[in-house]
Amino acid sequence: MRMSSSRAEGSRTPVYDHGGGVRSVQVPIPDNPLGHTLVYVVDTDAGPVLIDTGWDDPASWDTLVAGLAACGTSAAEVHGVVITHHHPDHHGLSGRVREASGAWIAMHAADSAVVRRTREARPEHWYSYMADKLTAAGAPEAHVAPLRTARGPLPGLSPALPDREIIPGELLDLPGRRLRAIWTPGHTPGHVCLHLEEQHPSQLPGHGRLFSGDHVLPEITPHIGLYEDPDDTTVTDPLGDYLASLERIAHLAPAEILPAHQHPFTDAPARVRQLLTHHESRLTGLSRLLTEPLTPWQLAERMDWNRPWAQIPYGSRNIAVSEAEAHLRRLVKLGRAEAVPGSGPVRYVAV
Ligand SMILES: [Zn+2]
Ligand SMILES: [Zn+2]
Repeated sequence: MRMSSSRAEGSRTPVYDHGGGVRSVQVPIPDNPLGHTLVYVVDTDAGPVLIDTGWDDPASWDTLVAGLAACGTSAAEVHGVVITHHHPDHHGLSGRVREASGAWIAMHAADSAVVRRTREARPEHWYSYMADKLTAAGAPEAHVAPLRTARGPLPGLSPALPDREIIPGELLDLPGRRLRAIWTPGHTPGHVCLHLEEQHPSQLPGHGRLFSGDHVLPEITPHIGLYEDPDDTTVTDPLGDYLASLERIAHLAPAEILPAHQHPFTDAPARVRQLLTHHESRLTGLSRLLTEPLTPWQLAERMDWNRPWAQIPYGSRNIAVSEAEAHLRRLVKLGRAEAVPGSGPVRYVAV
């Protein structure tokens, strides 16, 4: 079901009716190959509840407003906002929705902590944390130098503070609906999927529907890097968290997955198997590269990306190194790699 918007240029607001009181609005993400975030509008007895809100940009806001109008409601009528994770393409517009409606915003405590830190962080503190981290990962000085002199605000510095906590395993307070929070850390420490424990509207086999955020997407694998926390020295294992969270979703066996990007799909267990296989073969490939001792930076340079390392832009290299480190953590945890004693920056080798 596509409905036209009221915008002057006559463009159409992409709204899709998934049945059973669930619709989605395609909210654009400016200058991003992902294209859009699917914001789900779930009808409840107290008014519509949104799953995620989209990127904080005037055009994205206009699309969300037009989409809600196409759903027969408005931003002012929104009862609550449930956020799958803190990333700006999911949580960006939450503050504007709350301003327009007085809606509550719910998020898992681990991601709310990231939001709080982001709001309090002084940019200089953040830049020097990043510079130190990259140096420790073996980044060349030419890459790190700009961070040591960087000034000015960080993008997305003022995300809305959530006012409700999503408790894993519990039902959310959605009058007339059964929506249960499933904690799926990995992509972020507090990522949640939301399980709509109701019969599928087209009677598809399986258990209800799952709003999967970025955890399980039909055609791409989410970024798994380190959880960035300047004040926490715990050695986390985000890839290990992610793989365990995937198993949890296969177990649920939902009839349909409603992801935050791309398009809905069925057969969650098959998609989970693909993702597990993908990461297993990646880990195997990396342990092969580690026959010679490498820093995380050197490992990232040698890993397969969607283009040659020389063509990867600055910011994406930081993300790539974080991903290399997440895989190293997993290999170390599995006993398949270890740090070379006395090396600085630390180099890793397969065992
Ligand atoms: Zn994300
Ligand atoms: Zn996303």
